[in-house]
Amino acid sequence: MLGGNAAGARLLAGGQSLVPALNMRLLEPETLIDINGLGELTGITERGRALRLGALTRHAELISSPLVARFAPLLAKAAPFIAHAAIRNRGTLGGSLAYADPAAELPACAVALDAEIEIAGLKGSRRVKARDFFTGIYQTALAPGEILAAIEIPFSPPGRRGVFLELARRRGDYALCGLALAAEIRAGKIADARAVYFGIGAKPVEAEKAASMLEGKTPRDSSDAACAALAAELAPLGDLNASPEMKRHLAQVLLRRALGQLAAP
Ligand SMILES: Cc1cc2nc3c(=O)[nH]c(=O)nc-3n(C[C@H](O)[C@H](O)[C@H](O)COP(=O)(O)OP(=O)(O)OC[C@H]3O[C@@H](n4cnc5c(N)ncnc54)[C@H](O)[C@@H]3O)c2cc1C
Repeated sequence: MLGGNAAGARLLAGGQSLVPALNMRLLEPETLIDINGLGELTGITERGRALRLGALTRHAELISSPLVARFAPLLAKAAPFIAHAAIRNRGTLGGSLAYADPAAELPACAVALDAEIEIAGLKGSRRVKARDFFTGIYQTALAPGEILAAIEIPFSPPGRRGVFLELARRRGDYALCGLALAAEIRAGKIADARAVYFGIGAKPVEAEKAASMLEGKTPRDSSDAACAALAAELAPLGDLNASPEMKRHLAQVLLRRALGQLAAP
């Protein structure tokens, strides 16, 4: 159905972003294709050295799944910040990634965890790194007629930790600024850090220079240099709630807090 009517059709997953857009007449697709009955898109499983999450995994499942808690705890830490319980019961991982709201939690986590996105279409399936999947505001690498089928997250080596933090006006609101940080701690020193911000740009923003300042140092020793590098490299987009300067400040606050958490036993 999608292949034959790609331009005029929309997939309906949890409906938590699509249905409000329909209500407000921002979208008027010719055809709605409800994918909730497709069992192939559900399930959280171990596959080789990776955790596979079907596109229809609900936000609430990320919080309750023992496999997510064991192999991708960053997702379990992030999901409670998404909206409210009723929305988390319906909203899906695939829907959040495909919708690509720049203030959404899960796209930033997917980049921080080095996830791969599995995309299916009539011509077969292909994989795209999360880092390359998000291309702009509400824009992704999905082509017309394609569906996001699953995401795969490589198992973390022992000692790899994740910190998730966000600042919002009220709990459950979209973030003014948020941070998903993944790093290894070897003998107290940081290695292979990834710091991914959301709510500050057109898509998840990797703070590569700030992350490089953390390498080989303890979380406490690296904090000032990393915050200085962060302030220089970020060019946040302002919005109704906060100016670019305010977002740059919040990003530094979150980095300091995240490093404090990394330093904790
Ligand atoms: C009041 C409210 C507050 C919210 N707050 C937050 C928040 O704080 N943080 C946050 O991240 N989100 C928030 N959301 C959005 C929520 O997380 C949605 O669940 C999510 O953005 C979209 O997931 P969905 O499954 O509901 O997708 P849908 O609404 O069904 O679809 C969204 C879009 O993605 C497409 N799509 C869906 N699944 C696929 C797929 N498998 N392949 C290809 N395309 C697909 C649809 O065609 C549509 O264009 C909020 C929503 C509401 C109503």
